[in-house]
Amino acid sequence: MNICMVGAGYVGLVSAACFAEFGWKVSCVDKDVTRITRLNRGEMPIFEPGLNELVARNMASGRLQFSTIMSEAVRKAELIFLAVGTPMRRGDGYADLSFVFEAVDEIASHLSQFAVIATKSTVPVGTSRAIEERLREQRPDADFAVCSNPEFLREGSAILDFTHPDRVLIGCEDARASELMQQLYSPLSLRNAPIMFVSRESAELAKYAANAFLAMKVTFINEVADLCEAVGADVQEVANGIGADGRIGPKFLNVGPGYGGSCFPKDVTALIRTAREAKSPLSLVEQVELVNTERKIAMASRIQHAAGGNLRNKVVAVLGVTFKPNTDDMREAPSLVILPLLQAKGARVQAHDPQGRVNGESLLPRVEWHDSALEAAKGADILVVLTEWNEFRALDLKELRSAMRGNVLVDLRNVFSEELAQAAGLSYQSIGRQAHRKLKDSHPPKQSPAMRDVAVSHEVSA
Ligand code: NAD
Repeated sequence: MNICMVGAGYVGLVSAACFAEFGWKVSCVDKDVTRITRLNRGEMPIFEPGLNELVARNMASGRLQFSTIMSEAVRKAELIFLAVGTPMRRGDGYADLSFVFEAVDEIASHLSQFAVIATKSTVPVGTSRAIEERLREQRPDADFAVCSNPEFLREGSAILDFTHPDRVLIGCEDARASELMQQLYSPLSLRNAPIMFVSRESAELAKYAANAFLAMKVTFINEVADLCEAVGADVQEVANGIGADGRIGPKFLNVGPGYGGSCFPKDVTALIRTAREAKSPLSLVEQVELVNTERKIAMASRIQHAAGGNLRNKVVAVLGVTFKPNTDDMREAPSLVILPLLQAKGARVQAHDPQGRVNGESLLPRVEWHDSALEAAKGADILVVLTEWNEFRALDLKELRSAMRGNVLVDLRNVFSEELAQAAGLSYQSIGRQAHRKLKDSHPPKQSPAMRDVAVSHEVSA
């Protein structure tokens, strides 16, 4: 089977390499010349655990190749996947489909045999049908079918997610296309992964509904954490208590500074727009978006409060800037809101992230970058954990404390324990844990008006 993967980003590159590993022949096409040149030199344009080896192995076997030229790859392919970006459209929050349609227009002129065009990109309900109409207009003679095949992999564990999925969802209404898709995923169905065939609209909507649900789960536990602080409960214990219930499940019940990343924020907003347009608003999801936006601002207030209320000339050491560990992806990371707010209040920010610096440097001006947590902590008044990279768990807090000027540790991911921090001479603040009870009376308001003003001006200028 010959596959053409359009887009060599987080989804396209991982999918292309995994399909090649299944034994299929894959041509991965991207219009970004630098990206393709680097891939052909054996360099990964993104950080994803295990990807380097997987790509190298499949390039060496001749099953995986990279190109900037669409024509040959499309002509040979029985399956053409669209894995291009669908970012949030500026101004109205809808999904920007310009990359998708640009790719479709390019594919159109090269279709030569029966081919399935499948969207791996997250696209609003109705997009498969729109792609089909667009192709029919341009190539009434061509033999093709358009399917939806949304991708559910997570950055940081993308290869494992792709090769061991909870399910593969295929929106397909064409018998020949169904057969090809079944064959494509046969290495997974042999391992008992459920391959689900549904309508194209259901597949498209399911992807957005899944992300909105997960964003809601994260937001829910974040709000419960605030309540825990107010009433003296421990959010870890509450999360364990509810997560053990099979109807709820333990995943996505980790507290933090609010969800971010390349998917949840844009997909939640796009779903809200779709629902409003369909005159069937999702008020619950609208609230999730609002609460999450406010949470990031509240976290900046929390850090300010921990610094004694005034950040002027304070040095804040930040550990982790990516939206989650094991990725270099900075898209919509909470750090992009929190750090500028701290700077606007007069703080100097010293940061360390194992992979985030390359993408973070241009997005976070005036941040001083360091190669280790210890270097970042030097001379700091406050240490803030923003992303729960595994290697932070093993840090020697005593060593960090002695490098610091101050003694405050604000742990926005609950990586450490109060006992450990205290033993290192640090004054410890985490999220939603009982220790906060004693701070209750002196707690800052959920969001200070001053912080909100700065945040709004930041968002407008971003
Ligand atoms: P990305 O920005 O990392 O990669 C997109 C790639 O497509 C870029 O390299 C870009 O150069 C290329 N591209 C754009 N237009 C092109 C064209 N006309 N021809 C060839 N190449 C083109 O994006 P991503 O994170 O891989 O996301 C892709 C899609 O998958 C999005 O719709 C996203 O919502 C969805 N998705 C992402 C994830 C994730 O974790 N990143 C998970 C599931 C679904």
